[in-house]
Amino acid sequence: MIAKKIEVLIPADIDDCLSSLAKYSGDCAPLAGGTDLVVLLKTGMRKHIKYLLDISSISDLKVFTITLPGTASPTRLGIDSQADVIFEKLKEWRELAKEGNGAPKVTLGSTHTHSAIATSPLLKGFECLIRGASSIGSPQIRNMGTIGGNLANASPAADLYPPLIALGATATLVSHRGVREIAVEDLPRGPGSTLLEPYEILTSVTFEIPSLPFYSSYIKIGLRNSLAISVASAAVFATFDGGKFKTVRVACGAVAPTPIRMREVENLLIGQSPSRQLAREAGEIASKECDPISDIRATRTYRRHVTSVIVSRLIEDAAERGGRFFGEQAQ
Ligand SMILES: Cc1cc2nc3c(=O)[nH]c(=O)nc-3n(C[C@H](O)[C@H](O)[C@H](O)COP(=O)(O)OP(=O)(O)OC[C@H]3O[C@@H](n4cnc5c(N)ncnc54)[C@H](O)[C@@H]3O)c2cc1C
Repeated sequence: MIAKKIEVLIPADIDDCLSSLAKYSGDCAPLAGGTDLVVLLKTGMRKHIKYLLDISSISDLKVFTITLPGTASPTRLGIDSQADVIFEKLKEWRELAKEGNGAPKVTLGSTHTHSAIATSPLLKGFECLIRGASSIGSPQIRNMGTIGGNLANASPAADLYPPLIALGATATLVSHRGVREIAVEDLPRGPGSTLLEPYEILTSVTFEIPSLPFYSSYIKIGLRNSLAISVASAAVFATFDGGKFKTVRVACGAVAPTPIRMREVENLLIGQSPSRQLAREAGEIASKECDPISDIRATRTYRRHVTSVIVSRLIEDAAERGGRFFGEQAQ
């Protein structure tokens, strides 16, 4: 039960939001979908909060942009734009990337809901992200919960961390003091704690559209098929060059105090040709690299075992399916 009176502030834009956070810093929390925060308030775990800053209607937090190599101003699209809008330009962008101009980048505003991400035609190519967003809670939770709330709440089991870490995403944090870009993998400090200052908001996440064929996917193990918090989860992103792994990022959730990047697994895979044997070895290394706890959902031993299984399964899947350019349809 929420015993005390809490004032809800409705900022008109990001500047308005930052002024309130600076003024009431510490006593004020951004409210996006409320699916975590309202539970925390009701259970008395945010007793100090006197103001809720409703950021759900700020249009600049709902951006979806593509920044082309060599251009300063991003192309603004809607998250529900039809994929053809950009896929026809992809070849041109890849050529620009080859010339050393850098890759095109996608920027996703922090108040996009899990449902919007899961159904976005433009994000279809980033399977790990689609699978992560689709696996969260129930339709009601996915319609309210946001990408920014999932990252800021920093549960070790949060389903968007492993996909975003695997994509090499950065988070943009903004305050009255300025702007900081932080790799998503560096954002969490421990369960429920991040590098976000009380006067900062997470405005967006950004990741590259690879110019090589790539694979990405996500597996979540829960105790039931829906409304299940992860017992263990893993995301893999890999690019391929000449039939070998070139870039590989592997991230796991719910098997350490924060979502973690599995660098020893990545080191094993880079430069190798995908195979079942390699997938098995990757799984074995993953089970040693994670550091899970036992709790009401699973034992430490089970979590280690299942991490080995899901990492190995993802690498096997990558070996079987190979890589596709972003925008290419599955066979
Ligand atoms: C029944 C149920 C099932 C769930 N199942 C899952 C699940 O399967 N997987 C999973 O990962 N999560 C799950 N969750 C947790 C939750 O739905 C997600 O973490 C969701 O993404 C939180 O987003 P939100 O917009 O609702 O955040 P809010 O509740 O609005 O905010 C959460 C925290 O983040 C802060 N915050 C929010 N946005 C910002 C921002 N832009 N900048 C700075 N701080 C911000 C808030 O101040 C608050 O501290 C579940 C929750 C419930 C109630």
